[in-house]
Amino acid sequence: MSSTTSNMLKVAVIGGEGIGPEVTAEAQRVLRWFAEKRAAPVTLREAQYGVVPYLASGHVMPPATVEAIEEADAILFGATGGPETKEVPPEARKAASLLKLRQKYDLYANLRPIVAAPALVEAAPLKPSVLEGVDFIILRELTGGIYFGEPRGIETLPDGRRRGFNTEVYTTDKIQRVARTAFELARKRRGKVCSVDKANVLEASVLWREEVIALHKAEFADVELSHMYVDNAAMQIVRAPAQFDVMVTGNIFGDILSDCAAMCAGSLGMLPSASLGPVDRFGKRKALFEPVHGSAPDIAGKGIANPLGSILSVAMMLRLSLDRPQDAALLEKAVDTALSKGARTADIAEKGARILTTSAMGDAVIDALNALA
Ligand code: NAD
Repeated sequence: MSSTTSNMLKVAVIGGEGIGPEVTAEAQRVLRWFAEKRAAPVTLREAQYGVVPYLASGHVMPPATVEAIEEADAILFGATGGPETKEVPPEARKAASLLKLRQKYDLYANLRPIVAAPALVEAAPLKPSVLEGVDFIILRELTGGIYFGEPRGIETLPDGRRRGFNTEVYTTDKIQRVARTAFELARKRRGKVCSVDKANVLEASVLWREEVIALHKAEFADVELSHMYVDNAAMQIVRAPAQFDVMVTGNIFGDILSDCAAMCAGSLGMLPSASLGPVDRFGKRKALFEPVHGSAPDIAGKGIANPLGSILSVAMMLRLSLDRPQDAALLEKAVDTALSKGARTADIAEKGARILTTSAMGDAVIDALNALA
């Protein structure tokens, strides 16, 4: 392998299901723009995932996709999920699920930045005064908690009633490593961490809080640490979101709170994310970049989804996997420029605004990149 090739970031591009392929196509165009116009060292390999390959080959995640993911340094993912079809039995879906992927590559640190773009303040559901200065990150632990805890299942009791059960579980190591990521992130930002839990009710949260406090005391006393119960956090996110810098929380709380926080950005379609694995002995870490939203079956196939969450996930890739902060900032500026010139998909449109298709929004970002570069 030549040194040029080995310096290349291998990216697996997987649109997936629902609006996933639609938004990922625009993000991929943007990534190619950086490869062509700014010499970003990436090689792209497209792969299939979901109901389409299942119907063609019986695999939700065909072997070529498994291979593309395995060899990739970074994965650009669209979305998974959709109306249950009889053709895809739950076991086949489960065996190749996004949760399994997160677990396999230990992608524990899920960064979800929430920024209120000034151009969208009028279109957002929250008041402009509430949105002023909103710029925070929800750091969601992604490999533990109730989504993975055992025992789990649905059973029939002797009296005929059925019982569904799951287990919220966290061990010290999983809490410590995500808390460490939060403190390190905060040091590069405004120096504030808010840890969100439900320690008034759940033992797993009591341990969470104890471990966060212990790590803070031992290594990160320079960072300001606060704690919030998850129900209050949901309220504070819509009441006064500018108070947050880095919010660290467990898997299920982060899942729910980030959809809520999307209202600060104007739409769920605006939010990008990065899921990072542990740093290996070469200093590299596997990473998956995807918009926060799901497959949005209600709008899939219509070409109207907002691709900016996916496009901004490319900015996160440029910053975190390619170490190209200037390119990341250029892309974020291009998105802001497109928005301030009035580019709107339906989900972020003010009354009377001209509404763009998914690909026209991609065009608007590329036009802005060409103008800014
Ligand atoms: P969703 O995020 O797919 O959609 C919620 C709402 O937001 C819908 O009204 C949708 O139209 C809208 N929306 C989402 N993304 C948008 C975009 N880019 N532009 C404009 N509007 C957008 O959540 P849901 O409806 O609860 O779930 C649908 C499916 O997605 C389910 O099968 C769920 O399991 C799956 N899901 C997958 C992921 C993922 O792939 N990471 C995340 C969440 C949900």
